[in-house]
Amino acid sequence: MTKKIFTFLTLISLSVFLSAQTLEDKLVNRLRKYAIVYTCSDYDCETVPSSNGQKILAARLAEELISFGIPKEDVTVDDHSYVYATIKGNVKIAPTIFLSAHLDTTPDADFNTKAPIIHVYDYKGGDIVINKELGIVLTEEGNEFLHDAIGGKVITSNGETLLGGDDKAGMAIVMTLAETFAKNPNLPHGDIRIVFTPDEEIGNSTSLLTKENIKADFGLVLDSHGFGRIVVENFNATDVSFYARGDSEAPGTSMIPTPHRIVSDFIANFPKEMAAYNRSGMDGYVDHHSFRSADDKGGVLARGRLRSFYLDEMAGFKDLVKQWADKTAQDVIAAYDEARKKNPALKEVKYITVINGQASGTYSDADPVIVFTMKDSYFNAKEILKKYPTNYNLIVQAYEKAGVKMYPVSSRAGSDACDITYMGIPTYNIFTGSHNEHSRDEWVSSKQMVASYNVTYDYVIAMGQQDRTKMLQEGQEHGEVINPVPTISTPAFNEVYQQVLDKYALAFSNL
Ligand SMILES: [Zn+2]
Repeated sequence: MTKKIFTFLTLISLSVFLSAQTLEDKLVNRLRKYAIVYTCSDYDCETVPSSNGQKILAARLAEELISFGIPKEDVTVDDHSYVYATIKGNVKIAPTIFLSAHLDTTPDADFNTKAPIIHVYDYKGGDIVINKELGIVLTEEGNEFLHDAIGGKVITSNGETLLGGDDKAGMAIVMTLAETFAKNPNLPHGDIRIVFTPDEEIGNSTSLLTKENIKADFGLVLDSHGFGRIVVENFNATDVSFYARGDSEAPGTSMIPTPHRIVSDFIANFPKEMAAYNRSGMDGYVDHHSFRSADDKGGVLARGRLRSFYLDEMAGFKDLVKQWADKTAQDVIAAYDEARKKNPALKEVKYITVINGQASGTYSDADPVIVFTMKDSYFNAKEILKKYPTNYNLIVQAYEKAGVKMYPVSSRAGSDACDITYMGIPTYNIFTGSHNEHSRDEWVSSKQMVASYNVTYDYVIAMGQQDRTKMLQEGQEHGEVINPVPTISTPAFNEVYQQVLDKYALAFSNL
């Protein structure tokens, strides 16, 4: 360790334990502290977590949670580095809510090779040159929320690596809230569960998560970029595959289509107009994304994706793609029947469909075969979230109180919040003040972290005034469509921001 690095680390650890820190300092220091633990996940590793850095960070978070005064037995790190903690509430009838962030950073950015060197700017407006040599500049013009960062700090890497604000900013906010609630037992609230998950970026974060280990009624995942964003819905997703394996006849004289030909006939059905790259906003799509040799038996496989925000549209997509598969298979069966007139030794082609795991028949290794599979992958969380209008209204009110303009978005992907919602815990994913994630010009605004902290804080307090039974009952009784664009009073973010800092300083002045 060079002297320079040593001094840097000492400075950070000293500042973390200074008691007179403002809320903003705490958030920034925590972001730095977590970001310098390199937690890039790894697609090629079969274990969870997929990287050692995540184990290290999980252990440190657990230690830090205990240092807030949370009893040791209420903080656990399991074998897969999921961190769970309970901050006991003092309002018995209130719902239990969970707050979550993820441990890993993305392996999809090929420059995410080591822990970042972090730059913190006192931001007064204008462009920020992150790295002159590499030509990485944050421009006010190109970053719509940079203006809202004026008067606070902007945190970036030195441009050579990822910063990892996704999701270390969310983590810093969740940990700072955990500290606030653990150290201020008089604040009225129900039980609060803290959950940190590994391997989100490689799609594995919810694979070992259950309703039983989250142990909450409602929740927030702090993992959305931007300022004010809240994910109110996501795609319904169904995945399809089409596999063909044939008998062999000499090419040139053969009357039967090759497996390659069969699969390409299937994917030739997918219209360009419906392809993902031609669709946006609230459009769904039907597209194929891989076409390759599948095994050493001459099998060829294509995979496709069906995505739609609407269940009825999705049903139409499924019918359509199933018809393409059926027609392709019928043509192949007809070609084989015709060829068998000349070559009786040819076997019959079997056509098997596997819909959500239900197979229409069986086949052996020796059979020429076409297998079409269709499997629902995830659903639009809105179908469940809309049944809990009180929960949503409390979030809207928390945004209003924080003076933050709410940006409800329809996400064209799945998410942890969606998976957890389908486990039976209605969950929204909200902003953390991190921007341009997965890129070298990633940046985090300290003011926007404060805003996210405050929205979440107010939501926890508001939930503390609710009756758990009544809120859960709503899900059985309602079915109202929430208005995805709430009308928000004029945001007065800067005034509220100062009040939050003062309120926080006051809460901690007695400690
Ligand atoms: Zn993330």
